[in-house]
Amino acid sequence: MSEGKALEIVAQTSRSKRLKFFKLSILAILVVGIGLLARPAWHILWTHNKDVADRQPTPAGFIDDASAMNETPINEVWEVPDVVEDAEQQLQELFVLAKEKGLKVSIAGARHSMGGHSIAPGGIVIDMLPFRSMSYDEDSELLTIQSGAIWHDVIEYLEGFDRSVAIMQSNDSFSVGGSISVNCHGWQFGKPPIASTVESFRLLQASGKIVTCSRDENQELFSHVLGGYGLFGVILNVQLQTVPNRRYQVDRFIVPTIDALTTFDQQVTDRPEVEMVYARMETSAKNFLNETLIYVLSHDPSADGTFPELKEKGLVGLRRSVFRGSINSEYGKRLRWDAETSLQPSVSPTHYSRNQLLSEGVETFENRTATTTDILHEYFVPRQSLAVFVQDLQRIIPQYNNDLLNVTVRFVEEDHDTVLRYADQQMFCFVMLFNQARTQAADEEMQRMTEELIDAVLQREGRYYLPYRLHATKEQFHRAYPQAKQFFAVKRQYDPDELFTNAFYLKYGHE
Ligand SMILES: Cc1cc2nc3c(=O)[nH]c(=O)nc-3n(C[C@H](O)[C@H](O)[C@H](O)COP(=O)(O)OP(=O)(O)OC[C@H]3O[C@@H](n4cnc5c(N)ncnc54)[C@H](O)[C@@H]3O)c2cc1C
Repeated sequence: MSEGKALEIVAQTSRSKRLKFFKLSILAILVVGIGLLARPAWHILWTHNKDVADRQPTPAGFIDDASAMNETPINEVWEVPDVVEDAEQQLQELFVLAKEKGLKVSIAGARHSMGGHSIAPGGIVIDMLPFRSMSYDEDSELLTIQSGAIWHDVIEYLEGFDRSVAIMQSNDSFSVGGSISVNCHGWQFGKPPIASTVESFRLLQASGKIVTCSRDENQELFSHVLGGYGLFGVILNVQLQTVPNRRYQVDRFIVPTIDALTTFDQQVTDRPEVEMVYARMETSAKNFLNETLIYVLSHDPSADGTFPELKEKGLVGLRRSVFRGSINSEYGKRLRWDAETSLQPSVSPTHYSRNQLLSEGVETFENRTATTTDILHEYFVPRQSLAVFVQDLQRIIPQYNNDLLNVTVRFVEEDHDTVLRYADQQMFCFVMLFNQARTQAADEEMQRMTEELIDAVLQREGRYYLPYRLHATKEQFHRAYPQAKQFFAVKRQYDPDELFTNAFYLKYGHE
């Protein structure tokens, strides 16, 4: 064999070795890649397949709320007409009729409160949702809106004026009337609850009289109706402040929970460009509440004017499956956390418009099953109690059989507008979503845990939020809201026949 031929054979052999090595590497990468992806993909597909909506509709003659634990017999659901004059006149007639028949009346928006706050047992439930028109005045920058309107529609409307909602919840599925009646708050940074953005509203009282309430006119009613759980009358239309729809840059910080406050101080406090902030804590048993992911959204003036069209958020199905796959699954909880902390930062946009951020409906995560439900809790703690309250949560929650799916932490400034206020000082808010069975035993277990959590938060000079399950004892309620006795006395001055009633009032309204 010639020397040239021998060299060619050696070259061919080494080429084929390289090719073989390359093929094996690709195969190995594929095997490892498929191995890594197979489990999450399988978990998400499996969750997607078993995510059925098999809950029975509420039977005729009954009504329920978002808890799916409050099925209550009622006399009727009465829909408000959408024309103002008709609505006002027919409501006045309805009140007369209800009094004649000895029926109580409750007022319902989207019924996302969870303790029968929108339900008068055996009574008439006024459905405000058809009452939803709105108009924006460019000079005053105020939105005048009927109280049955849902934030989703408000955001779409304000988008046309480059404006946005000043303060609202983290989801857009709630009505304006329901939101101001619980005095909601959101993740708008450095702001008090929503009452601070209400200029005025018109109220239809039990007597049939319509009054305008503001900081200057009928001030007593103003401060009792906001956060007043529908006990003073029907809020007809509201004047709300608005803010510009700006473009925000998102920054994410993943930190051990013990360092979260330091990060918060460095990245948020005293930075005027920061407009929205919230944090999420890890819920897997392995690392329960030990890691925190802080989202900081700051105004980026250079990006203003480059708004993408406001449209439905993408990947709702995938996000829903990742979330619902965390229920009763340690693997699912870790997968969700890893996706949010490792994957999301590299695949998500760096900028959002304010309206985009606010446009998120509850459909991304809501429970639709017949056998289980998801229950919200919320606790407010002052800054000095933050670390010790996290330890309380870490100690108390694992003792119970309730599955904690989500914890977000927000910040709310002191409320100077309402009487039944939870933010009687600056507060950090822990919003927690638990999954439980729809059984009495599970409800009792949830009640025991809630009572223990409320005791803990009260010991830390905090408060708990009122629109959820009525699991607080009367004694706990009055410790958290010492002003409540006076609040209910004022309610009875304006509504001596107690026409406006709901399950919340029935539980806590009397000695
Ligand atoms: C998934 C989920 C997420 C949430 N996130 C947040 C959050 O981020 N921040 C927060 O603060 N809260 C939050 N909440 C609580 C929420 O803000 C309240 O439950 C709010 O009341 C929902 O509005 P709604 O239209 O469903 O009110 P409803 O439940 O229908 O009514 C609530 C109360 O308002 C009264 N009411 C309603 N309309 C009127 C009216 N026109 N006139 C007089 N009274 C009226 C009712 O009688 C009732 O007492 C959340 C709730 C859920 C279920």
